This record gives sequence, C-alpha cells and structure tokens, in this order.
Amino acid sequence: MDRFDEAADWVRSSREVVVFTGAGISAESGIPTFRDDSGLWQRFPPEQFATWAGLVRTATLQPRRFCEFVYSVLEPIAAARPNPAHRAIAEAERHTGITVVTQNIDGLHQAAGSTTVHEIHGSLLEIVTVSGRFRRLLSRADLREITSSLEKAFRGILTLPRALVALRRLIGIGSGGAYRPNLVLFGDALVQSAWTQSVSAARTCDCFLQVGCSGLVLPAATLPQEAKAAGACILAVDPNPTEADFWLQGRAAEVVPMLFETAFGKGQVDSGGDDR
Ligand code: NAD
Repeated sequence: MDRFDEAADWVRSSREVVVFTGAGISAESGIPTFRDDSGLWQRFPPEQFATWAGLVRTATLQPRRFCEFVYSVLEPIAAARPNPAHRAIAEAERHTGITVVTQNIDGLHQAAGSTTVHEIHGSLLEIVTVSGRFRRLLSRADLREITSSLEKAFRGILTLPRALVALRRLIGIGSGGAYRPNLVLFGDALVQSAWTQSVSAARTCDCFLQVGCSGLVLPAATLPQEAKAAGACILAVDPNPTEADFWLQGRAAEVVPMLFETAFGKGQVDSGGDDR
C-alpha cells in the first residue's frame, strides 16, 4: 500500500473528519492567496490594509487606494464558484462525519453544499454591526453590483463620499448604526462561537485533513496540534511542504477529489453550487 492509499484508508476508517481549509483551496476558484509572490500583501501592505484602524486611515487619506484594495478583495470572490475540492468535501458527507473549519471568507464551502462550516475568520458575505450583531447576508450577485459601482467610481475623481456611496451595501451607517462585513483582521479576536466549536471538533475527530493552509496564521495554525494531541491522524494537501503525518503534495482541486474517491469509491457526484 503506498502513502496515498494509506492516507485514504485513514479517511475511510474515520467516523469524524475535520477538513481545515485556507486560501489554497480557493486558488483554483480564481481567488488568489494573500502571501504568495504576487499576493495581495505585496501590493497592499498589511500595516495599512489589514487592520480596521489602518483601513479607516487609508480610506480617509487615500480613498482611491482604499477602493483599489476593496476591489482586489471583492472582485475574485464575486466571480468565484466552488471548485472540485469544495464539491468533493461536501459530497463526502454522504460517507462520513465531516466538519469544515475554514479560514476563508469566500462562502465557497456553503455554496458547494457543505452543511457544517465554521468560518473562524468570518465571512465577506455577512454584514454585521460594529459590535458584531448580524444584519444581513449578501449574495455573490450583490458583490458583483458593488464591484461594478466601484468600476464606475474609478472613472472619476474618487473622493471619500463617492467611495462610501459605491460601497454602501458593504460598509456605512444605517438605522441600526454603523455596519461592515464580518471579517477578522490582524489583531482581532476570532469569531468566538466558530472557534470554540472548531477546537472541540479538532479534539474529537479521528482524521484532520488540512487543505491549502500555510500554517502561518495564528491561532488557527494550532488546530492541527490540538487534533494530533488528541490522537487524530493529520493529512495535509498543499503544493508546498507541510508538516503532517501524510503530506499529499499537489493542488487541492486535483488531490482532494482523488483522496475521497480512493477512500469511498467513484461516484463523488459533481454537486454544482449556488450563488451564495
Ligand atoms: P494561507 O495561510 O491560507 O496559505 C495558503 C496556502 O495555500 C499555502 O500553504 C500555499 O502553498 C497553498 N496553496 C497555494 N495554492 C494551492 C492550491 N492550488 N491547492 C492547495 N494549496 C495551495 O494563505 P494566505 O494567503 O496567507 O492567507 C492569510 C489569511 O487570509 C488566511 O486566513 C486565509 O484564509 C485568508 N484568505 C482567504 C481567502 C479566501 O477567502 N479565499 C483568500 C486569501 C486569503
């Protein structure tokens, strides 16, 4: 039995699998990771763009630059569809217990049909008050409307009031006070309920499958250690070397469907996806 088959055997014999995903799983849906050579942090330094205080400062002093950043985040997510890795994870629920813990903010696991998804860094598709109270969900069509408003705004002089008009579905002040997307930026606490449930799932799973996570983002990166300490087998899918019991080298959209097919047999039906 080779290493890949051995890893698939762990998946097959597990009653509870935690699938822990990072930016890499959505790369083949057209959403770039942040940290690679041409990633977002190269063009938009985190000191300026990865904290709420930095974003408010940039919006006030450089509204065009602020809008360019928001556009760069929004545009690929607005256009994205679940790829075969998201769909294989959703489909695997027919065979075993699956809990998805994701650092991603793109809603693609839910769009693929996964039912238990803990979004520990929040979601771009969820609008909350500044104190974190839920206000409403956005669809991917809403995101596309925001990006087209931004495209129009880019054609003129982009002042802060014009930026706020273009972004009014995403950020602003309404009858219930100020609102914004439910995102965890640098220095923020994780979404508490999602994090508590994720730690508990990591401690009780038999198999922990990590897909497209650099392991550099804390405290998310402690989850595999929690799972390992509780006796789970750790599998990692990533083109780059990743610490795990089994490192399955390659791209998520190829390796993840192959892993579940090897574990559970062919017939992992392509479940399409909705427009969330
Ligand atoms: P990260 O820490 O999530 O690491 C990305 C990992 O993906 C790297 O290990 C890389 O080798 C791997 N990878 C790249 N292409 C891959 C592929 N095709 N298949 C499998 N693995 C692949 O990434 P980051 O970009 O530094 O992100 C920092 C934070 O921002 C994380 O919380 C992340 O979830 C978030 N983020 C979210 C999205 C999204 O919602 N889609 C996109 C970018 C970043």
